[in-house]
Amino acid sequence: MEALTQTADSTMTDEVLRILIVDDDHADRRHVMHVMKEAGLPCSFVETVSLEDAVEACKQQTFEFAIVDYHLPGADGLNCISYFQARIPDMPVVMITGRGDEIVAAQAIKAGAMDYIPKKNVQEASIRRIVKTALERAELRRRIAQQQEELEKFAAVLVHDLRAPITAVQAFARYIESGLRATSPDRDTISDHCRGIVKAVRRMDALINTLYKYTKADAEITLHPVDMNQVMVDAMTDLQNTIKERRARIKCGNLPVVAGDASELTELLENLIGNSLKYCEAETPIVDVTAAPDGKDTWRFAVKDNGIGISEQYRQKIFAPFERLHGTGKYDGAGLGLAICKKIVERHGGTIWCESSASQGTIFFFTLKEAV
Ligand code: ADP
Repeated sequence: MEALTQTADSTMTDEVLRILIVDDDHADRRHVMHVMKEAGLPCSFVETVSLEDAVEACKQQTFEFAIVDYHLPGADGLNCISYFQARIPDMPVVMITGRGDEIVAAQAIKAGAMDYIPKKNVQEASIRRIVKTALERAELRRRIAQQQEELEKFAAVLVHDLRAPITAVQAFARYIESGLRATSPDRDTISDHCRGIVKAVRRMDALINTLYKYTKADAEITLHPVDMNQVMVDAMTDLQNTIKERRARIKCGNLPVVAGDASELTELLENLIGNSLKYCEAETPIVDVTAAPDGKDTWRFAVKDNGIGISEQYRQKIFAPFERLHGTGKYDGAGLGLAICKKIVERHGGTIWCESSASQGTIFFFTLKEAV
């Protein structure tokens, strides 16, 4: 049978839930759709009557949710659930059956169903509750999977990026030892090797610091009135060595007082200005920080540079953790600076994005709420 599509709109949420129904009984399918409509769930339905039909429908589109009957022709509903569990683990599945039997319920849950309801209990309240719980659990599962992926990347970066300076320290230590054993030790070379150790250790320290800041960027913050002119002064103080080394020109307009956390906002400006200086090949890096009103109670900040620019296809990606457009060597870094910036801005209720052109550099924009 060809899958049938129906829509039942309502005002409960703005998003329409795409729901797959797998049930060979026409009246039962109608009943489920009717109850969902009455429950005020904004849904579109695809009706299928067998596992084969359902598999076909899943190839055509994605669903937020599936409702599967226990009794299906050919394969039973449990096979259907196991199939979804293996192929589409993010899609919550609820089993419905005429038999309100605990053994079937346990089998359904074991096969991977989020919930189980006897047909006689398919009513507005139960459907609403089940859909809500199933979607929440699916979201939780997605978040856990995402965090797990982040953790794996985190571990890989730790191992990879920390190994390089550790190897350097070991090598320098060996050179120093053999240098000292020589009949007439060359003090200058030994001093060079000592400086090499200090540099490698500094790199390790910076990396550990960044990783620590990234893990801390999820903590709760309290918003206070923060003068962004002072934040700018603090960020410049922290960056003064780099600014001097690069002979950079940092320009800044008059900045507003916003609702925020001063040390987080300093970190934000420091990361953005630091990147502007790092990813710049110009003899004199020029960074311009400005702010302009952006609708009611909101300010839009801009950090503009004359650096190497960012191609269009990477402008979203760079905010993800551990995304780097260049390997270490030319530009140092762990790929966490912008991910930290994104977390900071979002925790302040704002958004961050960038615009760029290779010839004109990059502008990072972010919004913050005005202090009340
Ligand atoms: P890191 O600097 O440690 O690599 P970030 O998260 O701060 O990590 O930046 C991610 C990537 O975005 C960088 O590797 C770089 O390629 C690019 N990038 C960031 N800021 C700029 C900028 N101002 N100009 C050009 N490229 C940038």
